[in-house]
Amino acid sequence: MDREQFRTAAHSAIDDIVNYFDTVPERRVLPAVDPGYLRPLIPENPPAEGEAWAQIQEDVDSKIKPGLTHWQSPNFMAYYPASVTYPSLLGEMYSAAFTAPAFNWLCSPACTELETIVMDWVARALALPECFLSTSENRGGGVIQNSASDAIATMMVAARERRVRELVLAEGLQEDTMEYEERKMDLQPRLVAIASDQTHSSAAKGALIAGTRFRSVTTGLENNMEMTASHLREVLEQCDRDRLTPYHLTMTFGTTNTCSVDRFAEIKAVLQEKPAWQRIWVHVDAAYAGASLVADEWQYITKDFTEGVDSFNMNMHKWLLVNFDASVLFVRNRLDLTNALDITPTYLRNPYSDMGTVIDYRNWSISLGRRFRALKIWFVMRSYGLNGMKAHIRKTIELGNVFADLVRGRSDLFEIVTKPGFCLTVFRIKDPQASRLSEGAIEKDGVADSITKKVYELINSRGEIFITSTVIDGVYVIRVVSANPMAEEKYVRNAFEIIVRTTDEVLQGK
Ligand code: PLP
Repeated sequence: MDREQFRTAAHSAIDDIVNYFDTVPERRVLPAVDPGYLRPLIPENPPAEGEAWAQIQEDVDSKIKPGLTHWQSPNFMAYYPASVTYPSLLGEMYSAAFTAPAFNWLCSPACTELETIVMDWVARALALPECFLSTSENRGGGVIQNSASDAIATMMVAARERRVRELVLAEGLQEDTMEYEERKMDLQPRLVAIASDQTHSSAAKGALIAGTRFRSVTTGLENNMEMTASHLREVLEQCDRDRLTPYHLTMTFGTTNTCSVDRFAEIKAVLQEKPAWQRIWVHVDAAYAGASLVADEWQYITKDFTEGVDSFNMNMHKWLLVNFDASVLFVRNRLDLTNALDITPTYLRNPYSDMGTVIDYRNWSISLGRRFRALKIWFVMRSYGLNGMKAHIRKTIELGNVFADLVRGRSDLFEIVTKPGFCLTVFRIKDPQASRLSEGAIEKDGVADSITKKVYELINSRGEIFITSTVIDGVYVIRVVSANPMAEEKYVRNAFEIIVRTTDEVLQGK
């Protein structure tokens, strides 16, 4: 493809993309294809000669689009959203054009420097405490990771290294000796990462990657699935009895199942009860709900992060208008990261890195090469402005309230199971035969579970809207979240009508 062919192809692709966004609300949100649908449509071998763009683009239309789940559709109300916006797409285009795996500052100074500046913008936009800014005295700062899972695993490795080093040095051993290495390897398997049973599975995976143990703190419907001080204390005390060393704790702001918020203040108070617990690395996973912090009315939450929190992550690519991947991670002390991850062979050395005055982001993450993702975040923040971002968050939170009110309004059919919030409503279908129609306390009810499951499966099989289900504290529930950039009230109302209609159908045994 030469420059003129590229120009024509790119215009055509952009027209097609704009048309895709214009028509996506009319498309069936879930594709009507069976597993393996694509293989018979694509030749077994790549073409020997190059093909014309028109032919390739035609295949996107006829072969790829029919197999897409349309995450951008306003009828997509499953999981959490994965946003994309026009300025973000432009950022991707430029990033690809400049392709520069900027692992060291020298590899492309603009990539590194824009990332540092934009991460400070994001920290300020979210009202994170000063300690997470790159300009802070405590040497904090932000870095863009591939995903929240990467961010969490990276933090666990940094936390492990910090804790083990403290323990071994406290025994009087010298670093870089055989004794030090032996002791470090003895202690590592006794370390425990802790998180609630509602924490995203990436915490358990992170512990696995870090080569440590993992223990979960029980939550329950009586506490709205939030991690509480007393349940955390039980796990910490059990670790003490088992002679295990807790080294990392994940507190979640917006859990995956129900968007519950762990009780930050009381959890931090528990960690003050024993010197060893004070040494635990505290991480806040705000992958989804963290986006709400751009709106002033939620920023009071970050006061809890001023003291006693070592790191914080959120995915702009969920609810904050930047497309995947844009997972931002902030640390209080960048040396904790670089001490753990800086391995510098001769071929990576250069005078700027040696001077120690520049940031080399390869030492802040697991991968060496990195994409120029700051560009799309910069484009989105400038195109929307802070007010545009706040407006998106407020509008979609309001849509969530509309949906929750609709569900409340049909208490003959539905029961809200956890506190609705941040656009998410978690509910189940009531068992019409039950003698009590519970007010407040949610009771385990096998019939309600199976009706809810039937309704959920029927709705998704029809593909008009896409919703997800889960099980919390033994109760089968449906989750509805409408928060992508195309979300609108008419779609939320339509989804509710579909749910009511399908529930009636199931209850009448049709
Ligand atoms: N943390 C929370 C609270 C999540 O909801 C999710 C995904 O939905 C993750 C972490 C993992 O995100 P990622 O796909 O970026 O690894």
